[in-house]
Parts: sequence; C-alpha cells; structure tokens
Amino acid sequence: MDTLKCPTCTGRRSNSHVLCPSCWGQLPTETRRRLRLRDDQAHDRRHQLSRAIAERVPLPIIHVSR
Ligand SMILES: [Zn+2]
Repeated sequence: MDTLKCPTCTGRRSNSHVLCPSCWGQLPTETRRRLRLRDDQAHDRRHQLSRAIAERVPLPIIHVSR
C-alpha cells in the first residue's frame, strides 16, 4: 500500500488519510467525528484541517465546521 509522510510528525500515513494514526488520535473527538462524515461539507472540512496544520495549530485544539 502507498504511504506518504505525515505532515505533523516523522510517521507515515496511508494515501487516503491526512494524518498518521497517532496524530489522528490527538485530534479532538468531535473533530475526528466531523472529518469522518461524508456529506457535501466533507471536502471543506479536510481543507480546514490542512490549513490548520499548515499554520501549525496544535492538533488537540484543531476544530472544523459542523
Ligand atoms: Zn503523524
């Protein structure tokens, strides 16, 4: 399976995920729940997460829209 570098640590993530499993686990529960939704806002939430990571927002305080 293809793996890519995790954007916030030295770990590896799978192609279909933004973060590696250990970084994903540091996100707030509600943020993870929203990012798993598959609705018309899904793309926008992923973009919010990517932008927060680029701005070096600490993972435990990253929030995405409902
Ligand atoms: Zn990571």
